Amino acid sequence: MVTSHKVGMNELAASMAQRLQPYLEQGVKFHGYLSPGFVLGAIMVDLAKELLGPRNLINAVVETKACLPDAVQLMTPCSYGNGWMQVQDWGKLAITLYDKYELDGIRVYINLEEARKYPVVEQWLMRIGDIDEEKVAEEVMKAGRDILSWQRVKVARHRKMKKAPLVICSSCGETHPATNGDLCLRCSGKGNYYEVAGGPVQE
Ligand SMILES: [Zn+2]
Repeated sequence: MVTSHKVGMNELAASMAQRLQPYLEQGVKFHGYLSPGFVLGAIMVDLAKELLGPRNLINAVVETKACLPDAVQLMTPCSYGNGWMQVQDWGKLAITLYDKYELDGIRVYINLEEARKYPVVEQWLMRIGDIDEEKVAEEVMKAGRDILSWQRVKVARHRKMKKAPLVICSSCGETHPATNGDLCLRCSGKGNYYEVAGGPVQE
């Protein structure tokens, strides 16, 4: 049984570039600059969408926190905020788009063997030496689907998270999920990304 497919260069490469152009332009505004990861993400999403075909509702899983989620958010209705995009912090350059109801999907990942034919891209993928991101982004675009593989997958149904009731933290007075106990995560010392700075308090 064939479980993965190599994507060959095809005459559609030019049309892909044309199709992605508006997203790449938006990507610069949204993402801040044209990063190789964003360009790669755009090419991955484009391929996954095409292979999945029209569906009523698609969901996404992204296997890295970096860059790729922004491409998914720009090119599909799935966002981190609406819950249709799940982000796994696995540090892997791969995405899956799947049918929300049927749970069948397309997982797109890097074909390392093919990527090695593009030394600049390989260096970037393997985090070797100094990277000229602009140059890498250009090369990724040039390589396009040539450096991708894909496979059909069946996504496990994830349990719907029940929203916990809220309680008021006895220390700071802000609401938080009761599952954390009486104190919120910050006041109980389990999470602390800030310290209160001096200055007037806006009440
Ligand atoms: Zn608190």
